[in-house]
Parts: sequence; structure tokens; C-alpha cells
Amino acid sequence: MTLLTPPDDTDRTALAPDLRSLTDRAARAWTERMAVRELGDGEYAVTTDSGHTYVVDLPDRSCSCPDHRIRGEHCKHLRRIAIEITARRVPAPGMQRARCDACGTETFVDEEVPAPHLCETCRLDPGDVVRDRETGKRLVVVRVTDDRADERIIESTGRSVAAHETNEGYPATDLVVDAVYLPAAVREESPREYAFPHSRLERTDAQLLDFLD
Ligand SMILES: [Zn+2]
Ligand SMILES: [Zn+2]
Repeated sequence: MTLLTPPDDTDRTALAPDLRSLTDRAARAWTERMAVRELGDGEYAVTTDSGHTYVVDLPDRSCSCPDHRIRGEHCKHLRRIAIEITARRVPAPGMQRARCDACGTETFVDEEVPAPHLCETCRLDPGDVVRDRETGKRLVVVRVTDDRADERIIESTGRSVAAHETNEGYPATDLVVDAVYLPAAVREESPREYAFPHSRLERTDAQLLDFLD
């Protein structure tokens, strides 16, 4: 871990916009009570305090409300969607809501990317250098699978990954991550893959490049 000193006092930032300086529409986009729900394909339903529901098409920069349709304005609904996306309350176009398959927190993932879905904290990508919490050894991630540790059978033992004695301390429902040991990963043609419960592997700041000599 790298500890950082706090920033100095010169960088002053406001967290909310100054409503006095905004146009009426922009101010109402921030302050009015609205319920927002993603519909997919860049469309969002916005329900106002008065109970009307309008559909915003973000890529098209359009809204089904009279303000937009008749006056052609960037209405408060359109602005509200932009605010909600920035605040990560709704997914941006092309993203969808998902529960992280490793830790269970709600996150937004690319619509195109198949399961397993992992949040930013749990995400492991092929090529990432990780540390085995049991042995301290470094490995390289080959793939994060959709298999659960109690479902995947290790061929050489005939038992599941979860049943392996060094994996007893990790949840049996963990996703299985296939990985290869360093330095074999960068020295051997086809290094042997080993299966680990996801939470047994710890992300590191090391890069595969650091192990090439
Ligand atoms: Zn509108
Ligand atoms: Zn997670």
C-alpha cells in the first residue's frame, strides 16, 4: 500500500452547482423530485413529482415531454439523466446494472461483456499479476470463470476446488479463477494452470512486464 499525504488547501471545489447561476431548467433538473429508471438502448424513463412519465433518449438528445417536443429545449428530464449518470445512480448508455458475482455489491457493467460480472474492486483480467494469500506466491490470471469453487472438479484429485484443503478458508461459492505461477508464466511455452477460489487471490500493483528479463 502507498500512503499519500492529504492535498493542500489551494484546490477549492464546490460539490453542488450554484443554483443562483443556473437557468431555471438546469436548476429544476437538480432540485425537483424525479424517479429515474433505465430502459436499455440509451433510453430512460423519468417520472416527475406530478406523476407524469417521460422517455428520454440520451444518444438522440430527445425527450417525450412537451417542453422538448414543442419548444425543442434541452428539458429538465434530459439534464436530470446526465446528472444521474455522472452520480452513478443509473448506468450510462451501453452499460447495465449487475450484482458483482464475487462480492455481491451492485455495479454497472458493459452490456456486451458476458458473465461473470465483477465490480471495479473484484475485477481480475487475463494477464493481471495476483498474490496467493496462502503461500504469498505470485501468479498471472488466465481467466475468471463462471464456475463455482464447489462445482469445479480438479482432474488430478477428483475433488472440487472448494474441497481442496488449502481452500477451506474461502467461500465454497467463490468463482474459480484459473492462473499460472510466475515465473513459469513468462518462461514456459504452456505453463500448467491451477484453479483458485476468487477471494484467495489478491490483486497486486505488479505488471507482467516486471517479470520479463
Ligand atoms: Zn423532457
Ligand atoms: Zn465485487
